[in-house]
Amino acid sequence: MTPKETVKEILKRFLFIEILQGLALTLKRLFSHAVTIQYPKERRKIAPGFRGQHALAKNPEGKAKCVGCGLCSTVCPSQCISVTREKGKVSRYEIDVLRCIFCGFCMEVCPYGAVVLTENYEYSEYRKEDIYLTREKLLSNWDKFMAGKKGEEYFKRFWRPMSEDFGTPSGQAVWRGKH
Ligand code: SF4
Ligand code: SF4
Repeated sequence: MTPKETVKEILKRFLFIEILQGLALTLKRLFSHAVTIQYPKERRKIAPGFRGQHALAKNPEGKAKCVGCGLCSTVCPSQCISVTREKGKVSRYEIDVLRCIFCGFCMEVCPYGAVVLTENYEYSEYRKEDIYLTREKLLSNWDKFMAGKKGEEYFKRFWRPMSEDFGTPSGQAVWRGKH
């Protein structure tokens, strides 16, 4: 530390500069608009693409899109998805939400756009088993939070990558012979 810096430091300490700066900030905030809200009477606007409770998507005919390939459970870093297929059908699909870190990998990896993260963040319960997501609960979450245009819009904006995101790089080998 140079002598000039030492003097500056001593003055700062003796004149309580930092304390005064802190008090000035408090005083400034005292008359500004409060950022707290009176939940649950008031609610913040949810940002589009918010990662809340999961849902299993349905197609326009109302059938579950999930084919039980298991990619989501393979990629899940928390290992909280459990998928079972029996006789060519999905017999079980469960998510232990308490272990989920809401990374969104399950949604991104699904080749069928069959699992999504909805805007619902109000699902606290008293018992662990009530918070556990079964296939039935996940499908009903689709009807509650994502049905209709909302689901379509969600996939358009947040489901990536889509086919239009892929271009053919120059120099890419392309088969031009006869089939
Ligand atoms: S949600 Fe998607 S990735 Fe997961 S099992 Fe179903 S189809 Fe496969
Ligand atoms: S959001 Fe992430 S942690 Fe949660 S279930 Fe999906 S992959 Fe697993």
